[in-house]
Order: sequence, then C-alpha cells, then structure tokens
Amino acid sequence: MTAAAIAEATGGHLVAGTDPLLRVTAPASIDSRRVDPGGVFAALLGRHTDGHHHAPAAIAAGAALVLSSRSLAAPAVQVADVTIALGALARHVASHLSATVIGITGSNGKTTTKDLAAQVLAHHGTVTATDGSYNNELGFPLTVLRATTDTRYLVLEMGARGRRHLSYLCDLVTPTVGVVLNVGTAHLGQYPDGQAGIAAAKSELVTGLPAADHGGVAVLNADDPLVAAMAPQTRARALWWSHHPHPTHVHARDVRLTSDGRAGFTLHTPEGAAPVTLSLTGQHHLSNALAAAATAHGLGLDTTLIAQALTNARPRSTGRMQTIVRDDDVTLIHDAYNANPDSMAAALTTLTAMTARRRIAVLGEMAELGAHAAHAHRHLGMLAAHAALDLLVAVGDEHAALIADAARTTGGNLDILAVRDAREAHEVLHRGLRPGDLVLIKASRAAHLEDLVTALSDSR
Ligand code: ATP
Ligand code: MG
Repeated sequence: MTAAAIAEATGGHLVAGTDPLLRVTAPASIDSRRVDPGGVFAALLGRHTDGHHHAPAAIAAGAALVLSSRSLAAPAVQVADVTIALGALARHVASHLSATVIGITGSNGKTTTKDLAAQVLAHHGTVTATDGSYNNELGFPLTVLRATTDTRYLVLEMGARGRRHLSYLCDLVTPTVGVVLNVGTAHLGQYPDGQAGIAAAKSELVTGLPAADHGGVAVLNADDPLVAAMAPQTRARALWWSHHPHPTHVHARDVRLTSDGRAGFTLHTPEGAAPVTLSLTGQHHLSNALAAAATAHGLGLDTTLIAQALTNARPRSTGRMQTIVRDDDVTLIHDAYNANPDSMAAALTTLTAMTARRRIAVLGEMAELGAHAAHAHRHLGMLAAHAALDLLVAVGDEHAALIADAARTTGGNLDILAVRDAREAHEVLHRGLRPGDLVLIKASRAAHLEDLVTALSDSR
C-alpha cells in the first residue's frame, strides 16, 4: 500500500514531508524493536511509555512509515487514535484478501485450539494465525495485517474482557467460521452480571457471523449449555462438537488418558472415524482438539487427514501444561501462564490421571475473580485435597492461605504447605524432589510462578 492509501483507509493525513507514493511492503508492529523492514510502526500512547519516542528507532530499524497521533519528523500518517486506525487498516486489507477467516473465542483453550486448528488447516492451504495470545483490539488487527494474498485460512484468536469487545473485532473483520469453546469463569470479576455476562460477551461472535447461505458456520460446544444456548442467536449453520456420541456431531469415542497425561480417542465426524493421540498434556485438550476437528470438518477436510494432523500437532506455546522432564526424571508441568477455576480443575484432573512416584501441586493465586475470589480459592483447596496429591504447596498471600486452609479442612492423605512466593516454594521443594516425582506449577501470571519453573529446571 502507499502512504496515501493508508491515510485514506485510516481517515488520517500525511504529515508534512511524507511522500504520498511511499510504499509499505510489510506488516505493522507496535514494538520498535520488532519492526519488519518496509512495514508500519504504530506509535501507541501507553500508560507507561509513549510510542512516539520510539519512532526514530523504528525508522532506523527499517520501518517505512509511522502511524501516529501527532505530527512527527518522520514519514507518518497522523490519525486521531492509533488503535482505531490499526483496526481500520486491518478492515481495509481484509477486504482485499480471499482467505477464509476463522475466529475462535471462549473462556479457556483459545490459544490451544487456534494452534491445533492452524496446524490441521496447514495440510490444506497456507495459514496465517495469531501469534501466541495476541487476541485483543491490537493483536487482532496486527494479525490480520500479516495475512497475504496467499493466505487461504486466517485463524484468529478473539479475546473478550467485556461486552462489545468481540462485536468490535467482528466489525473489523467478520469471520466466516466462528468457534465458541466454552463459557467459564475467566475474568469473572470484570463482569457485573456474572457468567450470563460472559456468555453474552462471547455470543457476539456468533451473532456477527454471516448467514448459512453465505457460508457462515458456528462451531459450537454441545456439552456447554451456555454455548448451546447461542445456536438460536446465529444465522450461520450450527456445527456441533461434543464429548458424547451423536450421529451428527463431531465427537470422541474410546477416550483414554495416557500415563503421561495425553488424550487418546477415536475422532468421529458425520463423514467417518479415525484414531488420534494428542501430544499435548492435559485431558482438557480433548475439547480443544474436538473444536479444531469440527472447524476443519466444517471447512471440508477429510476425517482421516484431520486425525493425523491432530496427532502430529505439537504444542506451540510455553507455560501451558508444558512438560519439562529433568535429567533426574523429575517431571515439571509448567502451567504458570494463567489460571482460573476451570483450568485449575482441569489441570488437577490431569495430574491425578498421570503416573508418578509422588504428585505435587504448586498452586498460586487466580487473578481477576473480583468478589468471587475467596470462594474460588477455597473451592480450589477442596479440589486439591480430593485430587490424588502427595503434597500441596499454596503460594501467595491471603488467597494461598484460603487454598491451604480449605485443603486441610477437607482432609485427605496429603501434606499441605503455604509459602509466600516462588523463592520460598523453591526452598521447600528443590532438595526434596526425587526421580519419578511429578510437579504441577500453576497460577495466574501475576504470581510469577514461572520463576519457580526456571529455578527448578536449573537445580537438577
Ligand atoms: P487466554 O485468555 O489467556 O488467552 P486461552 O483461552 O487462549 O487463554 P489457553 O492459552 O489455550 O487458553 O489455555 C490457558 C489455560 O487453560 C491453560 O492453563 C490450559 O491448560 C487451560 N485450558 C486449555 N483448554 C482448556 C479447556 N478446554 N478447559 C479448561 N482448561 C483449559
Ligand atoms: Mg490465549
């Protein structure tokens, strides 16, 4: 695109001295250290930094043009709001793509499902997909801007922290295929109307889909009543997936968990059946795999190919049920990237199913639960006491105390400790670990339990 075309698409104007015919040949970035030569540097006004200060560095690193909200001594398009302008640019670029757009939302498993779907669809055509969890009003347009005319499938993770977040994203680029995984309790504290509010926010994806006769497909979880209730709200064709046998649903049979915590099953679609063994640790990845399979099935992929691609798919993200086996045969399950009541329960179930000399759970705080926090941490303590654990280490302040207290009150055959932070957890753990021990480390990001993973990985 030329600078002039970018100005037109974003409703901005060229700052003095910018050549209207200057060509942008690469995607956009909001980090001056990661600009693509020939791309756009979007200068954001953050709470701590002002991206405009980094514009010279971005230009020096090869950026062709800056998207800015003030005048600059650099080739730039000046707009009222850079985030909105990035969205407008994404909308413009998407309107020139021939890719099938797939949007994935839900409380848990978006990144995993996106990574699985991207790896399956790559067997059928060129895929451009969200990097990591880049799923908000910035990450979404930045991903769209990475697509090219070669992109056949544009797989977009879509996050919602409130109402009108997904409708905003759908308005920029409307997916043809919309996947709703589940309505859980993530970010519950941000929804005054509780889980109904979360469901309403997620349903904005399916209400935004095109009608069935325009190719719209809503890929829905038949096992989650709040997702199932979205079917009447969409004009798209509903394509269901479920854990339970059903002739018209994509579903799993013969489900088992390997001794190292991976789900194996027979994938059934209305077109056929084929065996799958995932390489991802965690029984909950069965849901994510079924959602990815249903998506691929809805796009016409063959069932055997889908099953093989799922079996070959590798985890792409660190810190999500990532298995680290030390030389001394102590296994760490690094899941310190995030946590909420649903993913904690899923992780404990997986741990219980895995073979180990001793099972140890190091659990930290679940953030963003608002008024639900105390109850949720007590409930977690109770679940931990019921899981087949040998040792529970609760990490943090008052919420850790609630986890430990509830586990003690529930009783069971496990040792229970409460420590303040990752360093103290390391002190109590590192000398006692023995070959065959299995250690789950899980909390919200704010608890920084990744420091414990690093320390335990190093102290082998
Ligand atoms: P975020 O909102 O942070 O982007 P996400 O929806 O992208 O999260 P993932 O990154 O795939 O989700 O997984 C996050 C956490 O949830 C991990 O701890 C993972 O083990 C767990 N998890 C993944 N899928 C499910 C699921 N279907 N049910 C419950 N927990 C899940
Ligand atoms: Mg994510």
